[in-house]
Amino acid sequence: MKTMSQSPANGTLATRYAALQQALARAPRPSGAAVPQLVGASKTQPEALLREAIALGMRAFGENRVQEAQEKWPPLREAHPGLALHLIGPLQSNKAREAVALFDVIQTIDRVKIAEAVANEAARAGKTPRLLVQVNIGEEPQKSGVLPAELPGLLAACEGFGLSISGLMCVPPADHNRAPYFALMQRLAGRYGMAELSMGMSSDYLTAVRFGATMVRVGTALFGERDAA
Ligand SMILES: *Cc1c(COP(=O)(O)O)cnc(C)c1O
Repeated sequence: MKTMSQSPANGTLATRYAALQQALARAPRPSGAAVPQLVGASKTQPEALLREAIALGMRAFGENRVQEAQEKWPPLREAHPGLALHLIGPLQSNKAREAVALFDVIQTIDRVKIAEAVANEAARAGKTPRLLVQVNIGEEPQKSGVLPAELPGLLAACEGFGLSISGLMCVPPADHNRAPYFALMQRLAGRYGMAELSMGMSSDYLTAVRFGATMVRVGTALFGERDAA
C-alpha cells in the first residue's frame, strides 16, 4: 500500500479533522479492533481554535501541563459536558490533586510515587479517572515513562494502591523506525491484559494503528504548527 501522507498540515481545521477521521477509519488495524479514538493534542493552542474543534464534534483533548489545562479548559468543559480531557504530559506528585480534579484520563502514570499520589487524591475526591501507564519504550535516559523491565512492578504497586490501570501509553524515539517500538508496546499490552494502547502522533499514527493503537494523540496534523511548547 502506498503510504498516506501523515505530515502536517494544510487546509482548515475542518478539512484536516475530516481527513484524519477518514484516514483513521481506513487505516489497516488488527482484526477485530475498533477504529481508534482521536485525542486532539491541544497544548499551546488558543481557546478559539479549541472552540472550533469542539464545534466540529471533537470530544477528546490531550494537554501536557496541568497549569495550562487549568487555565484553558474549565469554561470549555462547563459549556460542553461531554468532553474528555486527557493528561498526556508528565505529572509531578505535587500536582496530583489538580490533575485528578481536572482530567478524565491520566495517561502518564510512570512511577510508584505518582501512582500513590493519584490513588490518594482520587480516593479523597471520590473520583475514578481512567489511568494509563507511560512506558519509556525506547529506554531513553531523558524521557518520561517506566522502563519496560520495571512495568510489572509498577502495575503491581498500582494494584496495591487500589488503582485500576486500563492501558499503556508511549512516545517512541524520534529518529527511528517506530514500528519495532509499537510492536513491543502491543506485546506488553497483550501480556498485561491492557485494553487501551495510546500511541501514534502526527508523523506516525498510521503505523501505530497497524500495531493496535486504540487512541492516537494528534496535534500538528490537526491544529497546525504550534509555537514551541
Ligand atoms: C505534542 C504531543 C503529541 C502530539 O504531537 P504532534 O506531533 O503535534 O501530533 C502527542 N503526544 C504527546 C505526549 C505530546 O506531547
